[in-house]
Amino acid sequence: SKKRDGKNGAVLYDPLIQDTTRQRAEIERDIEAALADDWFDAYFQPIVDLASERVVGYEALMRLEHPEKGTIPPSDIITVAEETGAIIRIGNCMLDKALANLVRVSKATGDNEAYLAINFSPLQFEPTLPIRLAALTTRYGIAPHRLVIEITEATLLHDNPQIRTILDEFNRFGCRIALDDFGTGYSSLSYLNRFPVDIVKIDQSFVRSLTGGEPELRHKSRMLVEGITAISHKMECTVVAEGIETAEQRDILEQFGVDKGQGYLFARPQPVARLIEAAGEQDRESSVA
Ligand code: C2E
Ligand code: MG
Ligand code: MG
Ligand code: MG
Repeated sequence: SKKRDGKNGAVLYDPLIQDTTRQRAEIERDIEAALADDWFDAYFQPIVDLASERVVGYEALMRLEHPEKGTIPPSDIITVAEETGAIIRIGNCMLDKALANLVRVSKATGDNEAYLAINFSPLQFEPTLPIRLAALTTRYGIAPHRLVIEITEATLLHDNPQIRTILDEFNRFGCRIALDDFGTGYSSLSYLNRFPVDIVKIDQSFVRSLTGGEPELRHKSRMLVEGITAISHKMECTVVAEGIETAEQRDILEQFGVDKGQGYLFARPQPVARLIEAAGEQDRESSVA
């Protein structure tokens, strides 16, 4: 229940609302501290070729390593960061970390072809973004064709006429564009037509619905995923499925012609130091064998 404060008509909100306001202020403080004290990290999740399970790329995923609270996931950060505008500074920081981490992983694995997919918020699409990205690839010595710009429908729907131009610039520069969380919004198919999309990422909700649940629903989900894959291929897009957790899901997706996959079945998002360690262990194993 709300009460009026007699003095200036301000509203004293109920405890629940006060809590969310306090929580929000706390997130804002954490974000500023993280930017100032370098707590943001780009975790990498491997993306594999479904047929061979060979690692062909990585997705960079934002984590805030809070010294007291531990690792904070993007779901707790992004909404607030988009509202305050801090997402632009976070995005720049993530871009730098992600490219630096790709260099480290490439050195450790000896694989200089694996690609790097980076998520972008609609607000990051400023006219200077392509030029800044180009400068970073030069600084880190990364070929532009190794970069994938991940966007969601929210970016394509965003009321910013420059987004199309910026995507075209990325394309000319050699970067590929991935449409993330495909199938979760509205009229997604038309985007394959209207925007320079190279990769379609099938949302994990579809992957989950392939197994378990009502047989009828499961059947329909499978038809849908098979259809999306066929259409994407006809539009000359590569198809990546995300959130693959079981061998059964992987087998079905592979049978449907899905090209690549990402999920806990293969590897979790992790600090690159751990990926590098694992690469070292593999080296030792194969030199013993
Ligand atoms: P996304 O781009 O769709 O990333 C995939 C999400 O699925 C990641 O969540 C990943 O950890 C999770 N995931 C991967 N495999 C599995 C699996 O097998 N099972 C399950 N249950 N989940 C899996 P995460 O890291 O929490 O990121 C959530 C979202 O936050 C991302 O969704 C992306 O939209 C956004 N995000 C992450 N990093 C950034 C960033 O640097 N910038 C921006 N603007 N957004 C980011
Ligand atoms: Mg993504
Ligand atoms: Mg996704
Ligand atoms: Mg998602």
